[in-house]
Formats: sequence, C-alpha cells, structure tokens
Amino acid sequence: MTNLLTSAPRGTKDILPAASAQWQKLEKTIRQLCSRFGYQEIRTPVFEHTELFIRGIGETTDVVEKEMYTFTDRGERSLTLRPENTASVVRAYLENKLYGEAEQPTKLFYMGPMFRYDRPQAGRYRQFHQFGVEVLGAAAPTVDAEAIALAIQLFQGLGLTELTLFINSVGCPTCRPAYREQLQNYLRPQLDSLCPDCKSRFDRNPMRILDCKSEACRQASQGAPQMLDCLCEECHDHFAGLKALLDAAEIPYSINTNLVRGLDYYTKTAFEIQYAPLGAQSAVCGGGRYDGLVAQCGGPDTPGIGFAVGLERLLLALEKQELLPAATRCSDVFIAPLGKEQTPMAFALLLQLRKEGLTADMDFLGRSLKAQLKQANRQKARFALLLGEEEQANQQVLLKDLETSEQSLVNAQEAINAIKEEMGE
Ligand code: AMP
Repeated sequence: MTNLLTSAPRGTKDILPAASAQWQKLEKTIRQLCSRFGYQEIRTPVFEHTELFIRGIGETTDVVEKEMYTFTDRGERSLTLRPENTASVVRAYLENKLYGEAEQPTKLFYMGPMFRYDRPQAGRYRQFHQFGVEVLGAAAPTVDAEAIALAIQLFQGLGLTELTLFINSVGCPTCRPAYREQLQNYLRPQLDSLCPDCKSRFDRNPMRILDCKSEACRQASQGAPQMLDCLCEECHDHFAGLKALLDAAEIPYSINTNLVRGLDYYTKTAFEIQYAPLGAQSAVCGGGRYDGLVAQCGGPDTPGIGFAVGLERLLLALEKQELLPAATRCSDVFIAPLGKEQTPMAFALLLQLRKEGLTADMDFLGRSLKAQLKQANRQKARFALLLGEEEQANQQVLLKDLETSEQSLVNAQEAINAIKEEMGE
C-alpha cells in the first residue's frame, strides 16, 4: 500500500535540486527569447471559476469532460485548478482592459504549473508545466508566423533536431458549417465502427474524429473531405499568407489536415511541433488561432493566437539528445575553521564574503580539516580560507588557492580582494 506521507500524489513529481538547475536554465532561456520577441510575462491565478474553463476550453472537450480538478471552496464556489492558461489569460485581458493599452497587439507569455486528471505515463502528468504565448488584438498571419518562429527558435536554440512543424487551417464560422456537414455525411455510414468517444463527438464536434488515435476511427476517416479544400476566401488567404511567411523565414513545415480542434472559437491556423523520438507523447508544442474566444468570454470581438509548450516533455527531449549538462555546484570560496573557537569568526567572514557578492560556504557539521577540504573540493571551490587559533589571534586567515595550492597569510579584506580579483568580480 502506498504510504501517503512519503509519496507524492499520482502524476506529480518533485523537482529536486539537481534538476531545478536545469529548469532554471530553461526558464531563463525562455524569458530572454520572449523579451527579444517583445512578449511580456503575465501571471494568472492557479485556480479560476470553473465556468471560465467550461466556456473557454469548451464543454465537449476531453479536458473539460474528464480531466479537470474541480472543487467547491468553503464559500460554495466551484473552482478549478487551471488545466491550461489561455482562458485565464483572456479573462485577465478582459478584466484588466489590456485592449485599451497603448501598445497593441497585446503580446503575452506565461510559465507555470497546469493540472489535468490524465492517465500518467512518460511525458504525461497530472501536474505539469507549460510555457505559452498569447497574442491578442491582431488578425494578420504575421503574428501566427511570429509565434511559430518563437517556438522554433526556442527548440533550435536549445539544440534540438528531429523536430517537425505541422500546420493546418480549421476554417472559421463562415466556412466550417458546410465542411462539418460534408464530413458528417462522409462518416455517417461508418458511425457504428467509431470508438465510443467519437460516436458522441459525431454530432457535437465531428472534426475531432479526424485526430482520434484509435485504429477504427483512423480507418473510418481515411479519404474524408478536408477542411483545407473548403476554406472561405478569407481563411484561404490567411493560410496562404502564413505559408509564405514561413517560407520566407525558411521554417520548414508539413501540412497535416488531421490537426483539428473543431470548436467554434478556434479559427484558421492550427499547429503542432513534434519531437518524434519521444514516441507516443511526441507533441512538445501545440497552438492555434482563436478569433472567437474573447467574444465567447463576453469581451469585444478580438482576434487571438497562442501556443503552449510542455516543459517536462521539452526537458525529456533535451535529455534524449544529451543536451542537459549535469548540474554542478561551484563556489568561489570555502571557509574552514580548525576548531569550535574559530567558528564565530568564520561565520562572520562567510556572511561578509557573500555580502561582497562571492559564492561562499563553510562547514556546518563540525568536520575535521581534512574532511572540510574534501567538502571544498566537492563544491569545486576555487579558494579555501583556513582559520586556526594563531590566525584568529592575529586577525588573519590562511588563503589557499585550491588550483595551485599556493597559500598566504592575509587579513580578511586582503583575502576578499584577492578572491574577487581572481574571480573577475
Ligand atoms: P494542450 O494544452 O493540450 O494543447 O497541450 C500543449 C502542450 O502541453 C502539449 O504539446 C504537451 O507538450 C503539453 N502537455 C499537455 N498535457 C500534458 C500532460 N498531461 N503532461 C505533460 N505535458 C502535457
């Protein structure tokens, strides 16, 4: 039986110090890239009113139907841990009237934990992290292309190869209804062979049948009419515009006509970036245009586009390509008091070194000098400051260069200056 006190809940993971260094590096890369692209960070609450997700993600989606962590709080409100961040960003955009800001379009990015009651497996968790962007207030394909280029630059900049960008257009409320009907007419004779989920999607959201992974549904939808052949002029031009922009930027892509969402507020561009070596969970980034979402949430008619990258999957991909350097701790200086009596002076010196901007550490376990120097080595300390009775009496320290083994007796300030000089401070 699982010991509840010593096991994290199913589908969640601790990010331990060795891994957190890699997370921080990745997060830093993302922030720098977003800043270069002119996207600003937004942080929204981890939980929202359940209604927001029902409206913003769609009642008929798997996420809303099966995967939400919904609870009633002590004030009898129905709240839900966010399963994704687009709906929250749209809510924040409306609540804070970001559409009234001088700089438009509104280009935002976010990073943080999301929660879905999913079946946990490699690359699929119940608490996972997404980095994503949302651009609100621009309808042109240039913003679609810019968002895609940002994701591609992130992955390529990290060194990932074997990436495939899939793009499609899911049309809009003008051209989609006729297409839906064509698709339903095509699938109707095979309705009995569809999986139970797709049977119920047939009326509500038939386009989703196209991306169902079950073999029966794949067979049934083979040769089905394609949205790309049924686009209205505006959607057709938008898709042509996107392709021309990707071509100009030399970003290779494949058209995947089965990449769909199918809800009314998803429009035009849909895209996904896959990293094939991850196998079943190969999607590292998914996104698309949602020109109807802001209005769906009660706001003014506002076009929008965004994507989300799964950070755990991205780290798995980097690990697969051996692009994650082992985290090593490096300190500038290690202070080794020889006895208990020297500890207060060593401690004061430790804090002084840190105030001066140096990475400094000392022994906290009352170790012997030999063991302390071993510890300094483990930390890859560049210098050690040895503090014995005599040094203490003379207000001095023995500064030892751990690379050259040179040592000299100096006072505290001289030691700090020498270390700072060497460490290029
Ligand atoms: P979605 O919001 O479903 O379009 O997902 C966007 C990205 O988030 C996917 O491409 C994955 O990389 C990641 N993702 C989605 N669900 C999970 C999950 N349960 N565990 C880990 N990553 C996920």
